[in-house]
Amino acid sequence: MASLDSVARTVLRRRYLRRDETGEVVETPDELFHRVAADLASAEAAFGGDVDATEARFHEVMAERLFLPNSPTLMNAGTDLQQLAACFVLPVEDSIESIFEALSQTACIHQSGGGTGFSFSKLRPEGDVVGKTGGVASGPVSFMQIFDSATEQIKQGGRRRGANMGVLHVSHPDVETFVSAKGEADVLRNFNLSVATDAAFWDAIDAGEPYDLVNPRTDEIVRQVDPEALLELVAEMAWETGDPGVLFLDTIEAANPTPQLGHIEATNPCGEVPLLPYEACVLGSVNLAAHVDGETVDWDRLRETVHLGVRVLDDAIERSTFPVPEIAERVAETRKVGVGVMGFHDLLVDLRVPYGSPAAVEVAEAVMRFVHDEAWAASRQLAEERGPFPAWESSVHETPVRNATTTTVAPTGTISLLAGCSAGIEPIYNVAYTKHVLGGLEIRNDRFVDMVEARGLDAEVLLEDLHDRTTIQDVESIPDDVKRLFQTAHDLPPRQHLAVQAAFQRHTDNAVSKTVNLPASASVADVESVFRTARELDLKGVTVFRSGASTGQVLGEAPRR
Ligand code: ADP
Repeated sequence: MASLDSVARTVLRRRYLRRDETGEVVETPDELFHRVAADLASAEAAFGGDVDATEARFHEVMAERLFLPNSPTLMNAGTDLQQLAACFVLPVEDSIESIFEALSQTACIHQSGGGTGFSFSKLRPEGDVVGKTGGVASGPVSFMQIFDSATEQIKQGGRRRGANMGVLHVSHPDVETFVSAKGEADVLRNFNLSVATDAAFWDAIDAGEPYDLVNPRTDEIVRQVDPEALLELVAEMAWETGDPGVLFLDTIEAANPTPQLGHIEATNPCGEVPLLPYEACVLGSVNLAAHVDGETVDWDRLRETVHLGVRVLDDAIERSTFPVPEIAERVAETRKVGVGVMGFHDLLVDLRVPYGSPAAVEVAEAVMRFVHDEAWAASRQLAEERGPFPAWESSVHETPVRNATTTTVAPTGTISLLAGCSAGIEPIYNVAYTKHVLGGLEIRNDRFVDMVEARGLDAEVLLEDLHDRTTIQDVESIPDDVKRLFQTAHDLPPRQHLAVQAAFQRHTDNAVSKTVNLPASASVADVESVFRTARELDLKGVTVFRSGASTGQVLGEAPRR
Protein backbone atom coordinates (compact mmCIF):
# COMPACT_ATOMS: atom_id res chain seq x y z
CA MET A 1 0.00 0.00 0.00
CA ALA A 2 1.27 3.49 -0.82
CA SER A 3 2.16 5.29 2.40
CA LEU A 4 -0.36 7.71 3.86
CA ASP A 5 0.57 11.20 4.93
CA SER A 6 -0.23 12.33 8.46
CA VAL A 7 -3.37 14.20 7.39
CA ALA A 8 -4.78 11.08 5.73
CA ARG A 9 -3.91 8.98 8.77
CA THR A 10 -5.64 11.44 11.10
CA VAL A 11 -8.78 11.62 8.96
CA LEU A 12 -8.94 7.82 8.69
CA ARG A 13 -8.45 7.35 12.40
CA ARG A 14 -11.03 9.90 13.44
CA ARG A 15 -13.72 9.13 10.90
CA TYR A 16 -13.31 5.92 8.95
CA LEU A 17 -11.55 3.14 10.80
CA ARG A 18 -13.82 0.68 12.58
CA ARG A 19 -14.14 0.89 16.33
CA ASP A 20 -15.32 -1.58 18.93
CA GLU A 21 -18.10 -0.89 21.47
CA THR A 22 -15.69 0.95 23.73
CA GLY A 23 -14.65 3.30 20.92
CA GLU A 24 -11.22 1.73 20.38
CA VAL A 25 -10.00 1.72 16.78
CA VAL A 26 -9.82 -1.92 15.67
CA GLU A 27 -8.73 -1.54 12.06
CA THR A 28 -5.64 -0.35 10.21
CA PRO A 29 -5.92 1.74 7.04
CA ASP A 30 -4.89 -1.26 4.96
CA GLU A 31 -7.53 -3.40 6.68
CA LEU A 32 -10.08 -0.73 5.82
CA PHE A 33 -9.24 -0.99 2.12
CA HIS A 34 -9.39 -4.80 2.38
CA ARG A 35 -12.78 -4.63 4.12
CA VAL A 36 -14.23 -2.37 1.43
CA ALA A 37 -12.66 -4.30 -1.46
CA ALA A 38 -13.88 -7.65 -0.11
CA ASP A 39 -17.38 -6.41 0.45
CA LEU A 40 -17.76 -4.80 -2.98
CA ALA A 41 -16.10 -7.65 -4.85
CA SER A 42 -18.45 -10.16 -3.24
CA ALA A 43 -21.10 -8.75 -5.62
CA GLU A 44 -19.21 -10.35 -8.51
CA ALA A 45 -20.28 -13.86 -7.49
CA ALA A 46 -23.85 -13.37 -8.66
CA PHE A 47 -22.58 -12.61 -12.17
CA GLY A 48 -20.04 -15.42 -12.36
CA GLY A 49 -17.13 -13.01 -11.82
CA ASP A 50 -13.85 -13.86 -10.13
CA VAL A 51 -14.39 -12.55 -6.61
CA ASP A 52 -10.80 -12.96 -5.37
CA ALA A 53 -9.15 -11.40 -8.40
CA THR A 54 -11.61 -8.49 -8.34
CA GLU A 55 -11.05 -7.99 -4.63
CA ALA A 56 -7.31 -7.75 -5.21
CA ARG A 57 -7.77 -5.18 -7.98
CA PHE A 58 -10.25 -3.10 -5.94
CA HIS A 59 -7.86 -3.17 -2.99
CA GLU A 60 -4.96 -2.04 -5.11
CA VAL A 61 -6.75 0.85 -6.80
CA MET A 62 -7.87 2.19 -3.39
CA ALA A 63 -4.71 1.46 -1.42
CA GLU A 64 -2.65 3.20 -4.10
CA ARG A 65 -5.21 6.05 -3.91
CA LEU A 66 -5.78 5.95 -7.67
CA PHE A 67 -9.52 5.87 -7.05
CA LEU A 68 -11.64 6.26 -3.92
CA PRO A 69 -15.37 5.69 -3.51
CA ASN A 70 -17.41 8.28 -1.58
CA SER A 71 -17.19 8.40 2.22
CA PRO A 72 -20.25 6.26 3.06
CA THR A 73 -18.75 3.36 1.07
CA LEU A 74 -15.44 3.64 2.90
CA MET A 75 -17.18 3.90 6.26
CA ASN A 76 -19.95 1.36 5.85
CA ALA A 77 -19.00 -1.37 3.34
CA GLY A 78 -18.61 -4.65 5.18
CA THR A 79 -20.21 -3.29 8.38
CA ASP A 80 -23.70 -3.52 9.85
CA LEU A 81 -24.62 -0.22 8.21
CA GLN A 82 -23.86 -1.22 4.60
CA GLN A 83 -25.40 1.97 3.19
CA LEU A 84 -22.93 3.04 0.53
CA ALA A 85 -24.38 6.08 -1.27
CA ALA A 86 -23.57 9.74 -0.55
CA CYS A 87 -26.39 11.38 -2.47
CA PHE A 88 -30.15 11.27 -2.08
CA VAL A 89 -33.19 13.27 -3.13
CA LEU A 90 -36.47 12.85 -1.27
CA PRO A 91 -39.91 14.05 -2.37
CA VAL A 92 -41.84 16.50 -0.21
CA GLU A 93 -45.54 16.81 -0.98
CA ASP A 94 -47.94 19.42 0.32
CA SER A 95 -49.20 17.57 3.38
CA ILE A 96 -48.13 17.23 6.99
CA GLU A 97 -47.91 13.45 6.52
CA SER A 98 -45.54 13.78 3.58
CA ILE A 99 -43.38 16.41 5.26
CA PHE A 100 -42.91 14.33 8.38
CA GLU A 101 -42.36 11.15 6.42
CA ALA A 102 -39.58 12.91 4.51
CA LEU A 103 -38.20 14.09 7.84
CA SER A 104 -37.96 10.60 9.26
CA GLN A 105 -36.45 9.26 6.03
CA THR A 106 -33.92 12.09 6.19
CA ALA A 107 -32.94 11.08 9.70
CA CYS A 108 -32.23 7.50 8.58
CA ILE A 109 -30.19 8.67 5.59
CA HIS A 110 -28.13 11.06 7.69
CA GLN A 111 -27.44 8.36 10.23
CA SER A 112 -25.91 6.27 7.48
CA GLY A 113 -23.68 9.05 6.19
CA GLY A 114 -25.68 10.21 3.16
CA GLY A 115 -26.70 13.74 2.26
CA THR A 116 -30.23 14.73 1.24
CA GLY A 117 -31.74 17.18 -1.21
CA PHE A 118 -35.37 18.29 -1.46
CA SER A 119 -37.55 20.43 -3.61
CA PHE A 120 -39.95 22.32 -1.35
CA SER A 121 -41.70 23.84 -4.35
CA LYS A 122 -44.94 21.89 -3.88
CA LEU A 123 -45.61 23.25 -0.40
CA ARG A 124 -48.37 25.85 -0.25
CA PRO A 125 -47.08 29.33 0.53
CA GLU A 126 -47.04 31.07 3.85
CA GLY A 127 -50.44 32.46 4.78
CA ASP A 128 -52.34 30.09 2.49
CA VAL A 129 -55.36 28.25 3.91
CA VAL A 130 -55.07 24.92 5.67
CA GLY A 131 -58.32 23.07 4.93
CA LYS A 132 -58.23 20.58 7.76
CA THR A 133 -57.76 23.06 10.55
CA GLY A 134 -59.01 26.28 9.05
CA GLY A 135 -55.65 27.77 9.99
CA VAL A 136 -52.94 29.40 7.91
CA ALA A 137 -49.96 27.62 6.36
CA SER A 138 -46.49 28.50 7.55
CA GLY A 139 -44.77 27.97 4.18
CA PRO A 140 -41.70 26.07 2.91
CA VAL A 141 -39.03 28.02 4.76
CA SER A 142 -40.56 27.39 8.14
CA PHE A 143 -40.78 23.65 7.41
CA MET A 144 -37.17 23.65 6.25
CA GLN A 145 -36.24 24.80 9.73
CA ILE A 146 -37.61 21.55 11.13
CA PHE A 147 -35.36 19.59 8.77
CA ASP A 148 -32.52 21.81 9.84
CA SER A 149 -32.95 21.19 13.56
CA ALA A 150 -33.40 17.46 13.02
CA THR A 151 -30.13 17.44 11.09
CA GLU A 152 -28.43 19.34 13.87
CA GLN A 153 -29.42 16.65 16.35
CA ILE A 154 -28.39 13.61 14.33
CA LYS A 155 -24.69 13.06 14.05
CA GLN A 156 -24.01 10.67 11.23
CA GLY A 157 -22.98 7.36 12.71
CA GLY A 158 -21.35 9.58 15.33
CA ARG A 159 -18.96 10.77 12.66
CA ARG A 160 -20.25 13.80 10.82
CA ARG A 161 -23.21 16.12 10.80
CA GLY A 162 -25.68 15.77 7.96
CA ALA A 163 -26.02 18.02 4.97
CA ASN A 164 -29.07 19.11 2.98
CA MET A 165 -29.94 20.93 -0.18
CA GLY A 166 -33.13 22.96 -0.15
CA VAL A 167 -34.51 23.86 -3.57
CA LEU A 168 -37.38 26.23 -4.27
CA HIS A 169 -38.73 27.05 -7.71
CA VAL A 170 -38.38 30.69 -8.61
CA SER A 171 -42.14 30.89 -9.33
CA HIS A 172 -43.08 29.99 -5.74
CA PRO A 173 -44.82 32.86 -3.91
CA ASP A 174 -42.38 32.52 -0.97
CA VAL A 175 -39.34 32.86 -3.22
CA GLU A 176 -38.10 36.12 -1.68
CA THR A 177 -38.31 34.71 1.86
CA PHE A 178 -36.46 31.60 0.69
CA VAL A 179 -33.76 33.51 -1.14
CA SER A 180 -33.15 35.75 1.87
CA ALA A 181 -33.40 33.00 4.49
CA LYS A 182 -29.70 32.73 5.21
CA GLY A 183 -29.22 36.45 5.58
CA GLU A 184 -29.80 35.99 9.29
CA ALA A 185 -27.03 34.41 11.31
CA ASP A 186 -27.42 30.77 12.31
CA VAL A 187 -30.49 30.07 10.20
CA LEU A 188 -30.59 26.84 8.14
CA ARG A 189 -26.98 26.08 9.02
CA ASN A 190 -27.26 22.54 7.71
CA PHE A 191 -28.67 23.59 4.35
CA ASN A 192 -27.30 24.75 1.07
CA LEU A 193 -29.98 26.63 -0.85
CA SER A 194 -30.66 26.68 -4.57
CA VAL A 195 -33.28 28.65 -6.39
CA ALA A 196 -34.54 26.64 -9.35
CA THR A 197 -34.91 28.72 -12.51
CA ASP A 198 -36.29 27.67 -15.87
CA ALA A 199 -36.62 29.01 -19.41
CA ALA A 200 -39.83 30.92 -18.59
CA PHE A 201 -38.01 32.94 -15.94
CA TRP A 202 -35.03 33.78 -18.14
CA ASP A 203 -37.30 34.54 -21.11
CA ALA A 204 -39.24 37.00 -18.95
CA ILE A 205 -35.98 38.71 -18.04
CA ASP A 206 -34.91 38.90 -21.68
CA ALA A 207 -38.30 40.22 -22.75
CA GLY A 208 -38.48 42.69 -19.86
CA GLU A 209 -41.87 41.26 -18.93
CA PRO A 210 -43.41 40.61 -15.51
CA TYR A 211 -43.05 37.09 -14.13
CA ASP A 212 -45.86 35.12 -12.45
CA LEU A 213 -45.60 33.71 -8.94
CA VAL A 214 -47.97 30.77 -8.67
CA ASN A 215 -49.53 29.02 -5.67
CA PRO A 216 -48.59 25.34 -6.23
CA ARG A 217 -51.73 24.18 -4.39
CA THR A 218 -54.23 26.00 -6.63
CA ASP A 219 -52.12 26.87 -9.69
CA GLU A 220 -53.37 30.41 -9.27
CA ILE A 221 -51.20 33.40 -10.02
CA VAL A 222 -50.69 35.06 -6.65
CA ARG A 223 -48.82 38.09 -7.93
CA GLN A 224 -46.39 39.25 -10.58
CA VAL A 225 -42.84 40.36 -10.01
CA ASP A 226 -40.10 42.05 -11.97
CA PRO A 227 -37.86 39.03 -12.77
CA GLU A 228 -34.82 41.27 -13.11
CA ALA A 229 -35.36 42.57 -9.57
CA LEU A 230 -35.78 39.01 -8.32
CA LEU A 231 -32.52 37.94 -9.95
CA GLU A 232 -30.88 40.95 -8.34
CA LEU A 233 -32.15 39.85 -4.94
CA VAL A 234 -30.69 36.37 -5.52
CA ALA A 235 -27.38 37.95 -6.53
CA GLU A 236 -27.44 40.27 -3.52
CA MET A 237 -27.95 37.39 -1.09
CA ALA A 238 -25.33 35.25 -2.82
CA TRP A 239 -22.97 38.22 -2.67
CA GLU A 240 -23.59 38.56 1.05
CA THR A 241 -23.70 34.93 2.17
CA GLY A 242 -22.80 32.57 -0.70
CA ASP A 243 -26.42 31.32 -0.75
CA PRO A 244 -28.49 30.67 -2.70
CA GLY A 245 -26.96 29.04 -5.73
CA VAL A 246 -28.90 28.96 -8.98
CA LEU A 247 -30.11 25.80 -10.72
CA PHE A 248 -31.01 25.70 -14.40
CA LEU A 249 -33.84 23.18 -14.34
CA ASP A 250 -34.43 23.10 -18.09
CA THR A 251 -30.77 22.26 -18.74
CA ILE A 252 -30.94 19.60 -16.02
CA GLU A 253 -34.16 18.12 -17.40
CA ALA A 254 -32.75 18.07 -20.94
CA ALA A 255 -30.10 15.67 -19.63
CA ASN A 256 -32.55 13.54 -17.62
CA PRO A 257 -31.72 10.03 -18.87
CA THR A 258 -35.01 8.49 -17.71
CA PRO A 259 -37.72 11.09 -18.39
CA GLN A 260 -40.30 8.28 -18.37
CA LEU A 261 -39.76 7.97 -14.61
CA GLY A 262 -40.35 11.62 -13.79
CA HIS A 263 -38.87 15.11 -13.72
CA ILE A 264 -35.81 16.21 -11.84
CA GLU A 265 -36.47 19.01 -9.37
CA ALA A 266 -33.61 18.83 -6.92
CA THR A 267 -30.00 17.85 -6.34
CA ASN A 268 -27.96 16.36 -3.52
CA PRO A 269 -26.37 18.74 -0.94
CA CYS A 270 -23.38 19.88 -2.92
CA GLY A 271 -25.28 20.12 -6.23
CA GLU A 272 -23.32 17.64 -8.32
CA VAL A 273 -26.09 15.07 -8.69
CA PRO A 274 -29.53 16.07 -9.94
CA LEU A 275 -31.81 13.16 -8.99
CA LEU A 276 -35.39 12.00 -9.30
CA PRO A 277 -37.40 11.77 -6.09
CA TYR A 278 -36.20 8.73 -4.10
CA GLU A 279 -33.11 8.30 -6.23
CA ALA A 280 -29.65 7.84 -4.77
CA CYS A 281 -26.22 7.86 -6.37
CA VAL A 282 -22.89 6.32 -5.37
CA LEU A 283 -19.88 8.43 -6.25
CA GLY A 284 -16.20 7.74 -6.62
CA SER A 285 -13.30 9.84 -7.80
CA VAL A 286 -10.18 9.20 -9.82
CA ASN A 287 -7.09 10.88 -8.44
CA LEU A 288 -5.77 12.58 -11.58
CA ALA A 289 -2.55 13.54 -9.79
CA ALA A 290 -1.68 9.83 -9.66
CA HIS A 291 -2.11 9.39 -13.42
CA VAL A 292 0.85 11.36 -14.67
CA ASP A 293 3.92 10.05 -16.44
CA GLY A 294 6.65 12.69 -16.36
CA GLU A 295 4.88 15.75 -17.71
CA THR A 296 2.07 13.97 -19.56
CA VAL A 297 -1.16 12.20 -18.62
CA ASP A 298 -0.78 8.44 -18.31
CA TRP A 299 -3.81 7.64 -20.48
CA ASP A 300 -3.47 3.84 -20.29
CA ARG A 301 -3.47 3.88 -16.55
CA LEU A 302 -6.33 6.35 -16.49
CA ARG A 303 -8.39 4.08 -18.74
CA GLU A 304 -7.78 1.15 -16.45
CA THR A 305 -8.70 3.13 -13.33
CA VAL A 306 -11.91 4.49 -14.85
CA HIS A 307 -13.04 1.00 -15.89
CA LEU A 308 -12.28 -0.35 -12.46
CA GLY A 309 -14.00 2.67 -10.88
CA VAL A 310 -17.26 2.02 -12.72
CA ARG A 311 -17.08 -1.59 -11.61
CA VAL A 312 -16.44 -0.58 -8.00
CA LEU A 313 -19.51 1.66 -8.07
CA ASP A 314 -21.77 -0.80 -9.87
CA ASP A 315 -20.81 -3.41 -7.30
CA ALA A 316 -21.48 -0.83 -4.58
CA ILE A 317 -25.03 -0.50 -5.89
CA GLU A 318 -25.38 -4.28 -5.68
CA ARG A 319 -24.08 -4.32 -2.14
CA SER A 320 -25.76 -1.23 -0.73
CA THR A 321 -28.80 -1.40 1.48
CA PHE A 322 -31.07 1.63 1.60
CA PRO A 323 -32.96 2.93 4.62
CA VAL A 324 -36.20 3.43 2.67
CA PRO A 325 -37.85 0.79 0.41
CA GLU A 326 -38.84 3.37 -2.23
CA ILE A 327 -35.17 4.32 -2.60
CA ALA A 328 -34.06 0.71 -2.96
CA GLU A 329 -36.62 0.28 -5.75
CA ARG A 330 -35.71 3.43 -7.63
CA VAL A 331 -31.97 2.78 -7.38
CA ALA A 332 -32.49 -0.75 -8.67
CA GLU A 333 -34.24 0.72 -11.72
CA THR A 334 -31.72 3.39 -12.73
CA ARG A 335 -28.42 2.31 -11.14
CA LYS A 336 -26.92 5.79 -11.39
CA VAL A 337 -23.24 6.02 -10.54
CA GLY A 338 -20.91 9.00 -10.64
CA VAL A 339 -17.27 8.54 -11.50
CA GLY A 340 -15.49 11.86 -11.19
CA VAL A 341 -12.05 13.31 -10.75
CA MET A 342 -10.00 14.95 -8.03
CA GLY A 343 -6.49 16.39 -8.00
CA PHE A 344 -7.12 18.42 -11.16
CA HIS A 345 -4.99 21.37 -10.00
CA ASP A 346 -2.19 19.00 -8.99
CA LEU A 347 -2.35 17.46 -12.45
CA LEU A 348 -2.02 20.90 -14.03
CA VAL A 349 1.05 21.62 -11.89
CA ASP A 350 2.62 18.36 -13.06
CA LEU A 351 1.84 19.21 -16.66
CA ARG A 352 3.29 22.71 -16.05
CA VAL A 353 0.00 24.31 -17.10
CA PRO A 354 -1.20 27.33 -15.07
CA TYR A 355 -4.82 26.94 -13.88
CA GLY A 356 -5.54 30.43 -15.18
CA SER A 357 -4.46 29.71 -18.76
CA PRO A 358 -6.52 28.66 -21.80
CA ALA A 359 -4.45 25.46 -21.84
CA ALA A 360 -6.00 24.47 -18.48
CA VAL A 361 -9.43 24.51 -20.09
CA GLU A 362 -8.07 22.30 -22.88
CA VAL A 363 -6.67 19.84 -20.35
CA ALA A 364 -10.02 19.83 -18.53
CA GLU A 365 -11.83 19.09 -21.76
CA ALA A 366 -9.44 16.34 -22.89
CA VAL A 367 -9.27 14.60 -19.52
CA MET A 368 -13.00 14.60 -18.84
CA ARG A 369 -13.90 13.59 -22.38
CA PHE A 370 -11.61 10.59 -21.93
CA VAL A 371 -12.99 9.73 -18.49
CA HIS A 372 -16.54 10.04 -19.78
CA ASP A 373 -15.95 7.91 -22.91
CA GLU A 374 -14.20 5.22 -20.90
CA ALA A 375 -16.83 5.24 -18.15
CA TRP A 376 -19.50 4.59 -20.78
CA ALA A 377 -17.39 1.88 -22.39
CA ALA A 378 -17.16 0.24 -18.97
CA SER A 379 -20.90 0.55 -18.40
CA ARG A 380 -21.64 -0.98 -21.83
CA GLN A 381 -19.34 -3.85 -20.98
CA LEU A 382 -21.07 -4.38 -17.65
CA ALA A 383 -24.41 -4.38 -19.46
CA GLU A 384 -23.15 -7.24 -21.61
CA GLU A 385 -22.11 -9.17 -18.53
CA ARG A 386 -24.97 -8.26 -16.22
CA GLY A 387 -27.74 -6.76 -18.32
CA PRO A 388 -28.69 -3.10 -18.76
CA PHE A 389 -30.30 -1.07 -15.97
CA PRO A 390 -33.97 -2.10 -15.81
CA ALA A 391 -35.35 1.28 -16.91
CA TRP A 392 -32.97 1.33 -19.89
CA GLU A 393 -35.44 0.50 -22.65
CA SER A 394 -37.52 3.65 -22.32
CA SER A 395 -34.49 5.75 -21.42
CA VAL A 396 -32.55 8.12 -23.69
CA HIS A 397 -29.73 5.61 -24.09
CA GLU A 398 -29.65 3.89 -27.47
CA THR A 399 -27.26 1.08 -26.64
CA PRO A 400 -27.66 -1.12 -23.56
CA VAL A 401 -25.76 0.32 -20.61
CA ARG A 402 -25.62 -0.79 -17.00
CA ASN A 403 -26.12 2.65 -15.47
CA ALA A 404 -28.42 5.58 -16.27
CA THR A 405 -25.49 7.95 -15.56
CA THR A 406 -21.80 7.24 -15.18
CA THR A 407 -20.06 10.57 -14.49
CA THR A 408 -20.23 13.31 -11.84
CA VAL A 409 -17.64 15.74 -10.53
CA ALA A 410 -17.89 15.72 -6.72
CA PRO A 411 -16.29 18.14 -4.25
CA THR A 412 -14.25 15.28 -2.70
CA GLY A 413 -13.98 17.30 0.51
CA THR A 414 -12.79 14.34 2.54
CA ILE A 415 -11.58 11.72 0.10
CA SER A 416 -9.14 14.21 -1.46
CA LEU A 417 -7.55 14.48 2.00
CA LEU A 418 -7.17 10.69 2.04
CA ALA A 419 -5.67 10.75 -1.44
CA GLY A 420 -3.46 13.73 -0.56
CA CYS A 421 -4.49 15.67 -3.66
CA SER A 422 -6.22 18.94 -4.47
CA ALA A 423 -10.01 18.79 -4.05
CA GLY A 424 -12.16 17.94 -7.06
CA ILE A 425 -11.51 20.30 -9.93
CA GLU A 426 -10.98 23.31 -7.66
CA PRO A 427 -7.90 25.46 -7.71
CA ILE A 428 -5.95 25.39 -4.46
CA TYR A 429 -6.82 27.89 -1.73
CA ASN A 430 -3.35 28.24 -0.22
CA VAL A 431 -0.02 26.46 -0.39
CA ALA A 432 -0.06 25.89 3.38
CA TYR A 433 -2.96 26.24 5.77
CA THR A 434 -4.76 24.90 8.79
CA LYS A 435 -7.96 23.12 7.86
CA HIS A 436 -10.40 23.64 10.69
CA VAL A 437 -11.86 20.16 10.90
CA LEU A 438 -11.07 17.31 13.27
CA GLY A 439 -9.31 19.64 15.66
CA GLY A 440 -7.18 21.24 12.95
CA LEU A 441 -5.21 19.63 10.15
CA GLU A 442 -1.99 21.15 8.84
CA ILE A 443 -2.08 20.97 5.06
CA ARG A 444 0.84 21.84 2.82
CA ASN A 445 1.27 21.57 -0.90
CA ASP A 446 4.02 19.02 -1.58
CA ARG A 447 4.40 20.04 -5.19
CA PHE A 448 5.05 23.63 -4.12
CA VAL A 449 7.59 22.49 -1.52
CA ASP A 450 9.46 20.36 -4.06
CA MET A 451 9.48 23.08 -6.65
CA VAL A 452 10.78 25.87 -4.40
CA GLU A 453 13.39 23.58 -2.89
CA ALA A 454 14.59 22.72 -6.37
CA ARG A 455 15.10 26.46 -6.86
CA GLY A 456 17.28 26.60 -3.76
CA LEU A 457 14.71 28.30 -1.53
CA ASP A 458 14.16 27.31 2.08
CA ALA A 459 10.66 25.81 1.96
CA GLU A 460 10.20 25.79 5.74
CA VAL A 461 10.88 29.50 6.11
CA LEU A 462 8.77 30.30 3.08
CA LEU A 463 5.80 28.22 4.21
CA GLU A 464 5.80 29.87 7.59
CA ASP A 465 5.43 33.19 5.83
CA LEU A 466 2.81 31.88 3.39
CA HIS A 467 0.70 30.03 5.95
CA ASP A 468 -3.02 30.80 5.50
CA ARG A 469 -2.30 33.42 2.84
CA THR A 470 -4.77 33.25 -0.02
CA THR A 471 -2.26 34.32 -2.65
CA ILE A 472 1.46 34.00 -3.23
CA GLN A 473 1.52 36.38 -6.18
CA ASP A 474 2.93 39.28 -4.10
CA VAL A 475 5.90 37.32 -2.71
CA GLU A 476 9.02 38.54 -4.44
CA SER A 477 11.30 35.64 -3.62
CA ILE A 478 9.15 33.12 -5.51
CA PRO A 479 10.07 32.78 -9.18
CA ASP A 480 7.34 33.87 -11.63
CA ASP A 481 6.84 30.49 -13.28
CA VAL A 482 6.22 28.91 -9.87
CA LYS A 483 3.79 31.67 -8.96
CA ARG A 484 1.85 31.02 -12.15
CA LEU A 485 1.44 27.32 -11.35
CA PHE A 486 0.16 28.03 -7.85
CA GLN A 487 -2.50 30.59 -8.61
CA THR A 488 -5.16 30.18 -5.93
CA ALA A 489 -8.95 30.29 -6.14
CA HIS A 490 -8.72 33.99 -5.28
CA ASP A 491 -6.22 34.83 -8.01
CA LEU A 492 -8.40 33.48 -10.79
CA PRO A 493 -11.00 35.61 -12.53
CA PRO A 494 -14.60 34.33 -12.35
CA ARG A 495 -14.61 33.67 -16.10
CA GLN A 496 -11.81 31.13 -15.69
CA HIS A 497 -13.65 29.34 -12.87
CA LEU A 498 -16.66 29.17 -15.18
CA ALA A 499 -14.67 28.08 -18.23
CA VAL A 500 -13.15 25.16 -16.31
CA GLN A 501 -16.54 24.19 -14.86
CA ALA A 502 -18.11 24.32 -18.34
CA ALA A 503 -15.33 22.20 -19.88
CA PHE A 504 -15.96 19.49 -17.28
CA GLN A 505 -19.74 19.80 -17.57
CA ARG A 506 -19.61 19.20 -21.32
CA HIS A 507 -18.38 15.67 -20.58
CA THR A 508 -20.29 14.89 -17.39
CA ASP A 509 -23.71 13.21 -17.21
CA ASN A 510 -24.67 14.59 -13.84
CA ALA A 511 -23.38 17.94 -12.64
CA VAL A 512 -20.07 19.45 -11.59
CA SER A 513 -19.21 20.66 -8.12
CA LYS A 514 -17.46 24.02 -8.42
CA THR A 515 -17.43 27.30 -6.58
CA VAL A 516 -16.88 30.50 -8.49
CA ASN A 517 -14.77 32.64 -6.18
CA LEU A 518 -15.04 36.40 -6.33
CA PRO A 519 -12.83 39.04 -4.75
CA ALA A 520 -14.19 41.02 -1.79
CA SER A 521 -14.43 44.03 -4.08
CA ALA A 522 -16.85 42.27 -6.47
CA SER A 523 -20.24 43.93 -6.93
CA VAL A 524 -23.75 42.47 -6.92
CA ALA A 525 -23.75 43.10 -10.67
CA ASP A 526 -20.64 40.89 -10.96
CA VAL A 527 -22.54 38.07 -9.25
CA GLU A 528 -25.47 38.55 -11.61
CA SER A 529 -23.13 38.40 -14.54
CA VAL A 530 -21.70 35.08 -13.27
CA PHE A 531 -25.26 33.70 -13.18
CA ARG A 532 -25.93 34.83 -16.75
CA THR A 533 -22.65 33.47 -18.06
CA ALA A 534 -23.29 30.15 -16.31
CA ARG A 535 -26.60 29.90 -18.12
CA GLU A 536 -25.00 30.75 -21.46
CA LEU A 537 -22.38 28.04 -20.86
CA ASP A 538 -25.14 25.43 -20.33
CA LEU A 539 -24.12 24.75 -16.74
CA LYS A 540 -26.65 22.90 -14.61
CA GLY A 541 -26.07 25.11 -11.65
CA VAL A 542 -23.76 27.76 -10.30
CA THR A 543 -22.60 28.83 -6.91
CA VAL A 544 -20.49 31.82 -6.00
CA PHE A 545 -18.46 32.71 -2.98
CA ARG A 546 -17.16 36.21 -2.43
CA SER A 547 -14.14 36.70 -0.22
CA GLY A 548 -15.31 38.11 3.08
CA ALA A 549 -18.95 37.09 2.60
CA SER A 550 -20.72 36.87 5.95
CA THR A 551 -20.90 33.10 6.35
CA GLY A 552 -18.84 30.23 5.05
CA GLN A 553 -21.89 27.99 4.79
CA VAL A 554 -19.65 24.99 4.94
CA LEU A 555 -21.55 21.87 5.86
CA GLY A 556 -19.67 19.28 7.82
CA GLU A 557 -16.37 19.07 6.03
CA ALA A 558 -17.98 19.21 2.62
CA PRO A 559 -17.32 22.37 0.70
CA ARG A 560 -20.35 23.89 -0.94
CA ARG A 561 -21.19 21.95 -4.06
P1 ADP B 1 -16.47 12.78 0.40
O1 ADP B 1 -15.17 13.41 0.04
O2 ADP B 1 -16.68 12.69 1.89
O3 ADP B 1 -16.72 11.45 -0.25
P2 ADP B 1 -17.77 14.99 -1.04
O4 ADP B 1 -17.17 16.18 -0.38
O5 ADP B 1 -17.27 14.63 -2.40
O6 ADP B 1 -17.67 13.72 -0.06
O7 ADP B 1 -19.33 15.18 -1.13
C1 ADP B 1 -20.09 14.35 -1.97
C2 ADP B 1 -21.48 14.26 -1.47
O8 ADP B 1 -21.50 13.53 -0.24
C3 ADP B 1 -22.14 15.58 -1.13
O9 ADP B 1 -22.66 16.27 -2.21
C4 ADP B 1 -23.23 15.11 -0.21
O10 ADP B 1 -24.29 14.54 -0.95
C5 ADP B 1 -22.51 14.04 0.58
N1 ADP B 1 -21.89 14.59 1.80
C6 ADP B 1 -20.68 15.14 1.94
N2 ADP B 1 -20.46 15.54 3.21
C7 ADP B 1 -21.57 15.24 3.89
C8 ADP B 1 -21.99 15.41 5.23
N3 ADP B 1 -21.24 15.97 6.17
N4 ADP B 1 -23.22 14.96 5.52
C9 ADP B 1 -24.00 14.38 4.61
N5 ADP B 1 -23.66 14.20 3.34
C10 ADP B 1 -22.47 14.62 2.98
